[in-house]
Amino acid sequence: GGLKGCLKVRGSQIRHLLEAKDTFLFDCDGVLWHGEKAVPGAPGVVNTLIGRGKRVFFVTNNSTRPRENYVHKFYRLGFTDVRREQIFSSSYCSAVYLRDVARVRGQVFVIGGKGIRDELREAGVPFLQEEEQERRLDVDGQPQPDATIFNCDLSADVKAVLVGHDDQFTFLKLAKASCYLKDPDCLFLATDNDPWHPLKDGRILPGSGCLTAALEVATGRKATVIGKPSRFMFECISSQFSGVDPAQCLMVGDRLETDMLFGSNCGLDTMLTLTGVSQMEDAEVYSKSERSTEQSFVPDYVVDSIADFLPAFEE
Ligand code: PLP
Ligand code: CA
Repeated sequence: GGLKGCLKVRGSQIRHLLEAKDTFLFDCDGVLWHGEKAVPGAPGVVNTLIGRGKRVFFVTNNSTRPRENYVHKFYRLGFTDVRREQIFSSSYCSAVYLRDVARVRGQVFVIGGKGIRDELREAGVPFLQEEEQERRLDVDGQPQPDATIFNCDLSADVKAVLVGHDDQFTFLKLAKASCYLKDPDCLFLATDNDPWHPLKDGRILPGSGCLTAALEVATGRKATVIGKPSRFMFECISSQFSGVDPAQCLMVGDRLETDMLFGSNCGLDTMLTLTGVSQMEDAEVYSKSERSTEQSFVPDYVVDSIADFLPAFEE
């Protein structure tokens, strides 16, 4: 027998798939764009799907932007018909989780940036504002380690710690978050657990999974992950749009460990596009070693780029 999944699709096979599915979930970076550059052909594909009345959703682990900001980015890159209701980012879904699922009473301590703070504010979830740091000197004129002076404000009534991408991450934030998490009733959430992201010229950006890992080591606890591969983003979609049937959905992504596993966890057919992180060989390695199909890293379908959808739109 051949390999499970990994069916490279072209032409009429793609056309049949587009006809068979009424709902398309797209990962963003690596599928629709690379940073500030659209993947050639991707805007045409998304605009056409929307124009033909397909339901299109965007599921991104990138927590750095509020949805409003994503709407502008989509437009700027040529995806002209995307509304914020279609965008399910890890920061938005984290805010929904805290408001509707955890229903935290008290404050959230945030390790993260503007995307997270804006979404929490809009959801009406109170969070602790980071105060300015001051440095104190000890008797020998040595700067005191911040953490030993300030640590956490135990009067602040913190009921959850949320960790996401934070380019201002400090030892002090790590120390404070660890302190709050000593309380077993304090929730421990992560927007996503991504290890790293590709940048131009082979450089990488460490992902928020690194920050979550630091906090897990410091506390001996495990974070609840909101973003892919957790099912929660799909639950957000299903609760906000009626009649979303997993059997009618196609999840398109570029990373096996997040996007394909997310699709599999949610019972969706999955498609890997080779414009991003994972390549065909990576999928074949999983395909050879996997025993069950319940939790699978292996895509059902593979395309070189979602631009391969374009010919399928023509009669
Ligand atoms: N988080 C950060 C900080 C990123 O920069 C990226 C991609 O560039 C991601 C997450 C992954 O985003 P996506 O899920 O859209 O691939
Ligand atoms: Ca991606």
